[in-house]
Amino acid sequence: MPDLLPILYQRIANLTSPSCQNGTAECAKFVGSKYRCCERKYCELARRFAKEKYNIDLRDTGNPDLPFMGENGCIVAPHLRPICTLHLCSISWADKSHVNQNEEQTKAYFKMREEIIAEARQRGKEI
Ligand code: SF4
Ligand code: SF4
Repeated sequence: MPDLLPILYQRIANLTSPSCQNGTAECAKFVGSKYRCCERKYCELARRFAKEKYNIDLRDTGNPDLPFMGENGCIVAPHLRPICTLHLCSISWADKSHVNQNEEQTKAYFKMREEIIAEARQRGKEI
């Protein structure tokens, strides 16, 4: 059976990335941070995950702040940076009132997330 994780992570990235691209109220928390919620420590977690689970050595872009930030955003495939891919602050951090404003997206998010967790468990590729 083929590993479905690249497809599943790409799907959830497609669901969440428009929110990040458009910028949300939560992004305002990172005013003064060029890359908003991206941090070097998450790049390093991605580096370790890619090596441990896929034996892939991620190549640095040369960005002095974030090893994997390229000119047009992160260069790492969604399934190799699962913590980043699964994060969408309006769902991950939101209180219930906020979640309700995005009910459809929230439901779709958790459905996809459950699929990912089940597939990852089967493949020994848990976060
Ligand atoms: S996860 Fe939240 S803070 Fe980070 S870019 Fe997306 S909307 Fe902004
Ligand atoms: S999304 Fe990419 S650049 Fe941002 S923290 Fe994750 S690995 Fe680093």
